[in-house]
Amino acid sequence: MSIEKINPFETAQKQIKAGADKLGLPAAAYDILKQPMRVMTVAIPVEMDDGSVKVFTGYRSQHNHAIGPLKGGIRYHPDVTLEEVMALSMWMTFKCAVVGLPYGGGKGGIAVNPKELSKGELERLSRGYIQAIAPMIGSEKDIPAPDVYTNAQIMAWFVDEFSKIRQYNDFGVMTGKPLIIGGSIGRNEATARGCMFTVREAANTLGLALEGATVAIQGFGNAGGIVASLLAEQGCKIVAANDSSGGVYNPDGLNPSALLEFKQKTGTVKGFPGSQDISTKELLAMECDILVPAALENQLTAENAGDVRAKIIAEAANGPTTLEADAILKQNGVLVIPDILANAGGVTVSYFEWVQNNMGYYWSEEEVNDRLEKVMVKSFGEVYKMHKNKEVDMRTAAYMVAVKRVAEAMEIRGWLGGNRKA
Ligand code: NAD
Repeated sequence: MSIEKINPFETAQKQIKAGADKLGLPAAAYDILKQPMRVMTVAIPVEMDDGSVKVFTGYRSQHNHAIGPLKGGIRYHPDVTLEEVMALSMWMTFKCAVVGLPYGGGKGGIAVNPKELSKGELERLSRGYIQAIAPMIGSEKDIPAPDVYTNAQIMAWFVDEFSKIRQYNDFGVMTGKPLIIGGSIGRNEATARGCMFTVREAANTLGLALEGATVAIQGFGNAGGIVASLLAEQGCKIVAANDSSGGVYNPDGLNPSALLEFKQKTGTVKGFPGSQDISTKELLAMECDILVPAALENQLTAENAGDVRAKIIAEAANGPTTLEADAILKQNGVLVIPDILANAGGVTVSYFEWVQNNMGYYWSEEEVNDRLEKVMVKSFGEVYKMHKNKEVDMRTAAYMVAVKRVAEAMEIRGWLGGNRKA
């Protein structure tokens, strides 16, 4: 099945349904969770540098606030659609819930290619978007963050614009901010660090020593590049890595820092001295202990999942495995650390950033990393226990842990009914 034919919204619904059915929840729970509770579509007029006015379309989706305020990034990409934003907001609810954060899921986006805008146009677009969605957001309401093609600078414009509207500095309205205006130390590496902790826990449960364990990384970018370095620090041997331009393989191990430096200079890992070229197909089917998909969605499909020879798959990327591929991997005994758990380190440190903003007191890097480790170790343990006790795959187990928490909050708040006298 091609990527275009896989609808992320339908995938999200099926994943939630699998968790809800296994838990035997009342029908009302799934009926509430199968879509966002509130979505907003906005038109953003922007004056371009040539004096013309262009109108961009933006979205914000708020999936479920039963556990707490909404949390989730804002994506700038030409392919952003309302349906994609809605699906991403649903995944955020369960990502927050599986690691026990007091948040529901949100997501936003603008259909735009930011590479085609000047810095001034990008700033005016970003400020216009915040003016448009201002009624929906706030540090106690809905807290956006960076996502694809948005960064700390854009968060700074967002915070500034929102603070002007509110007439006070509300730094806690966004996370992923520059350090000087309330960002958290350790946020940059948080996704990868969290992923490394889950791999370490998974290896422990399988009795696999990390010292000398072989690793293949698909997508040597922000998440994948740092996961490679952190796993190498644990003694792993990174034997393969790739990016959108090509891949490299070295059975004796690739040095992640040298590879990163090479990629920074040349724009790709391809051609790294001492390595052999490999294709994505070869990388995903590589004889290795740990496979880390850290690029795009729908990479492991019905066509190639049967070729995977890794013992552990750690989904640093969001949605890299299709539902059909999941069934094949389960049958073949591959331990999949699902995305909502494996890459939850990012939102966890975003939560720490918000907590620090609310307190006005800032932690050391050591404190941030220690707290992150505790959250990831505990969460992995809870999901693994559910996987073993209920004899379900790790993804279903993660959804069961997460859906159970959200359903409990909805139940106690009276959203599921059941109190009407006969
Ligand atoms: P990034 O743009 O820094 O890196 C992505 C890398 O994947 C790039 O090196 C790119 O060249 C490579 N790539 C693209 N297409 C590829 C292909 N077909 N085959 C192999 N490599 C390919 O992005 P990122 O921030 O590292 O995000 C990667 C994934 O991790 C995404 O799914 C994202 O949603 C997820 N994620 C990231 C974070 C974070 O904090 N960075 C948090 C949670 C989830």
